[in-house]
Amino acid sequence: MKCFYHPGVDAVGVCGYCSRGLCTASAADVGFGLVCKGIHERSMRGARRLWSLTWVFMGLAFIILGSVAFAILQNLFLTALLLPMGFLMMFPAAYQYVTRKQRTR
Ligand SMILES: [Zn+2]
Ligand SMILES: [Zn+2]
Repeated sequence: MKCFYHPGVDAVGVCGYCSRGLCTASAADVGFGLVCKGIHERSMRGARRLWSLTWVFMGLAFIILGSVAFAILQNLFLTALLLPMGFLMMFPAAYQYVTRKQRTR
């Protein structure tokens, strides 16, 4: 496969956003794959950040649901199920979000 932007150059990977072939000069490493340098770099980073935030909110929702299940329904089983799931969703995403934010600064 050849690079989409330089037809004479062999591609070293594909853009995770648009699946076009990329050579070393037109590829940007965003930490979890390659994207078109300066073209899909920003949108991919933004999408990733948004995704992390989505997980944080989902985790929060589970934690709140678990608390509500305990407070209103007195359902310990539901709480024991929802709370760890919430924390598991929230913390890796939150950690990723914070570290990514610091690195780009
Ligand atoms: Zn290229
Ligand atoms: Zn691209």
